[in-house]
Amino acid sequence: MNSHVASSTKKFGAGLALLCFVAGAALFSFRSVDSSSDALNRALMTSDCSCKPTAEFDWSYNYECNYEEHGQVAPDMWGYLYPDCLGVRQSPINIARDIVTTDCTLAPVTGAFVFDMGMCMLDDLDYKADGKGWTVTFDGYCQTTPTITINGAVFNLLQFHLHSVSEHVIGGGYYDAEIHFVHYSALDPTSLAVVGVMISSTSDNIGNLEFTKYAEHMAYVSGKQKYASEIMETDATMAPAATPSSMASSTSMSAMEQVNPYSMLPADGTYYNYLGSLTTPPCSETVTWIVMKEGITVSPDQLEAFRAGLMDPEFPLVDNYGNNARPPQPTNGRMVYQCVMA
Ligand SMILES: [Zn+2]
Repeated sequence: MNSHVASSTKKFGAGLALLCFVAGAALFSFRSVDSSSDALNRALMTSDCSCKPTAEFDWSYNYECNYEEHGQVAPDMWGYLYPDCLGVRQSPINIARDIVTTDCTLAPVTGAFVFDMGMCMLDDLDYKADGKGWTVTFDGYCQTTPTITINGAVFNLLQFHLHSVSEHVIGGGYYDAEIHFVHYSALDPTSLAVVGVMISSTSDNIGNLEFTKYAEHMAYVSGKQKYASEIMETDATMAPAATPSSMASSTSMSAMEQVNPYSMLPADGTYYNYLGSLTTPPCSETVTWIVMKEGITVSPDQLEAFRAGLMDPEFPLVDNYGNNARPPQPTNGRMVYQCVMA
């Protein structure tokens, strides 16, 4: 623990009695500062706060600290339920200039990695929307699972999912969203390689065409799950915002379409590489992170469709800003390597 963290702990320690009720505001204010979220974690772990979560609760991004009523636990409290979330190589991180080295020979991934798009049909994939995010699962739903080859080792594409705002911070700035392609090693399924791609919303294009394929499905799925009763009572022209009738009806037209998820990667192959963790519980520290330096763009409608899909009519699982993003975690001396993919 360095001196800055120690002083932060003392500062937070003084207000422990109120911490449960102000944790949301306090954490969000400091969310871009690594050491403060670490200090908050440590302070909470040593407090006798009356609202400690227990195993019967689930995790969320909601900082309201009312899990005794709703059973949901905010990111700063995940460590109570999942000890690995308090580990020393957690993700995401702030990829700050002073921890980036361009000497890629030292990196876990030392050079080019190769994509194989496999053979997957849009309608065969598994789609899940649970109020915390969207997940599109490939592994087990494709004729041939897409893969990337890293340092000669093959990793299968398990799924991709989205966060908004971005989880990784690059040079101090958040992006509108971040897509995570989660891969597992064909030789050791516990070894993960996650490729992160930043997403910006821009109004000067029609959006990312590959993204559109999945967005149509996801809007349909999330609408069906969240608004089933309303849909039954409402005709198609009055579908809720998350499921515009044009999106739902066009799903069947694209059903037999082949997909290439890797076409959602940027043209520029420069990436950041570091060792980290899952950014959601159980926060397992088994991830080799590959964060693409350049992002992609989507249309405002596409971004809004995703964010609207996170809204729960009863109790939001996202934070007060509608985000499903874990704040940056302490780097604890880790370096980030910048590499160029040939
Ligand atoms: Zn993720």
